[in-house]
Amino acid sequence: MNKKRIVTGDRPTGRLHIGHYFGSLKNRVAMQESGEYEPYILIADVQALTDNFNNPEKVRKNVREVVMDYLSVGIDPAKTTIYIQSMIPETAELTVFYSNLVTIARLERNPTVKTEIAQKKEIFGESVTYGFLGYPVSQAADITVLNGEIVPVGEDQLPLIEQCREIVRKFNSIYGDILIEPEAVLSKEKRIKGLDGNEKMGKSLGNAIYLSDTPEEVNKKVMNAVTDPNRIKKDDLGNPDICMVSYYHKLFDNKEEYENVCKECREGKRGCVACKKQLAENINKTLEPIRQKRKYYEERPEIVDKILIEGTEKAREEARKTMKKVKKAMKLDYFEN
Ligand code: SF4
Repeated sequence: MNKKRIVTGDRPTGRLHIGHYFGSLKNRVAMQESGEYEPYILIADVQALTDNFNNPEKVRKNVREVVMDYLSVGIDPAKTTIYIQSMIPETAELTVFYSNLVTIARLERNPTVKTEIAQKKEIFGESVTYGFLGYPVSQAADITVLNGEIVPVGEDQLPLIEQCREIVRKFNSIYGDILIEPEAVLSKEKRIKGLDGNEKMGKSLGNAIYLSDTPEEVNKKVMNAVTDPNRIKKDDLGNPDICMVSYYHKLFDNKEEYENVCKECREGKRGCVACKKQLAENINKTLEPIRQKRKYYEERPEIVDKILIEGTEKAREEARKTMKKVKKAMKLDYFEN
């Protein structure tokens, strides 16, 4: 069977949290294990620099953190190729060629970029950099230089894949049928809210539980989660629909446990402190094997480096082949006969 190639990735700007776990990592492991795909995961350090250009140390440090998070949740380097974006110079080269095929107005209209620029006002002020505005172009190069066929994304990322597809169509219409037009596949899991109820989970918001958090850190964070504000005493009738503890119970409990949480809360038969303790226990139960695996890699950085070196070399080989075809099609294959 011909396996479909998946290209996906993350910006290494921090350790991964349970939002990533439910939002993309579990899905990636399932796709990897299905045997139907050939997955590539890029550590998007160049993309991370677009809004962290003045903090290269942060990006560098988090490359290995993110890889250890991948390995600890079950990404298997024997089945999934993990590689570093900046070590594939062919991507940068392809980005330059693509930049002739995209107008500035089209980039400015991209809904994902528009939202992100609005969120990053403290970094860019009123004037965004050329690099950030153009990151969908480099993302298109990331996917196509590896001949990615499938890109699993959240709904908010769909405009980026649409932009990539437009670039491919334009390229192929001018230079010949060289590039593969990738398909976006919506991830089954939705975005996970933060412990404070914020739609987004993240370090800057202080509302995330990290895969590498200790049991004590998890306990402390869960104790601070937002609950039904109208509930003062244990026998007050509660509303689990507006409680983040109940929201997380749904993620970490089995169906029966979760239904019991909601029932007891509504009937005023459950104290919030006990409810939080039970949740923290269940989260820790899920995270324990992940922590154990992570510890193994933390103590063996040479294994992590080997995985990255081998993955990057494999990805680069593929990128070289694509660029050979691209340059030939663009009449840039001087002295190659
Ligand atoms: Fe939330 Fe549990 Fe308290 Fe109900 S009992 S408000 S579900 S923490």
